[in-house]
Amino acid sequence: MTDQTMYVILLGPPGAGKGTQAVQTAERTGLLHLSTGDMFRENLRNGTELGSLAKTFMDKGELVPDDVTIRMLLERISREDARAGCLFDGFPRTVEQARALDEALGEQGNEITVTVLIDVSDEEITRRLGGRVSCASCGSVFHEIFNPPKAESPCCDQVNMIQRDDDKPAAIANRLQVYADQTEPLVAYYRQADKLSSVNGEQSPQAVGEDLLAALQAVSD
Ligand code: AMP
Repeated sequence: MTDQTMYVILLGPPGAGKGTQAVQTAERTGLLHLSTGDMFRENLRNGTELGSLAKTFMDKGELVPDDVTIRMLLERISREDARAGCLFDGFPRTVEQARALDEALGEQGNEITVTVLIDVSDEEITRRLGGRVSCASCGSVFHEIFNPPKAESPCCDQVNMIQRDDDKPAAIANRLQVYADQTEPLVAYYRQADKLSSVNGEQSPQAVGEDLLAALQAVSD
């Protein structure tokens, strides 16, 4: 699977486990993991103008405007290390972003290989997002109930946990609404293009990971 150029999109509501699955799948397939959320957070840490602009939207659970997001992502995929394929996590989130990505890949003679929807119900998402915390030092994500931070860890211990502003209740409600209004139409977009596959996201992370790999295997033959 790894010697083939694949452009894979992970799609799903906030809290579906995209980030965790993307990291693991990238490791197992050798695909470059590209997360626009991580890029914005990195810009924020580095004190860039883009970072402070993005923060004003992220804190409210809103999307960073398309023009800014698209420019950042297209610049990233134009670099040499993205030519062997990528795993997109958190991009595209609007139909306009999806069109821009199709166009940019088309200009390179490439195309999206498959979009995998991690399917999780609204009730489950609300339950999961409520307890999400992350390590202030390294950014690793935990859940107060389902995946608590380890007391003995030198970095990710309980004391070091913070709740991202966009994981606070008002922002969560807004993120779910934004997903329904702006991102969910991508399910139809990729289904119409015959590029949609879906996995049941309400299983253990291991089982979701296996299904995800199987979905990629199915399109790489
Ligand atoms: P994530 O880590 O993917 O949940 O992203 C965190 C936040 O970054 C989102 O709630 C948005 O405010 C912003 N963001 C990330 N990716 C995008 C995108 N493709 N388009 C617009 N905003 C984004």
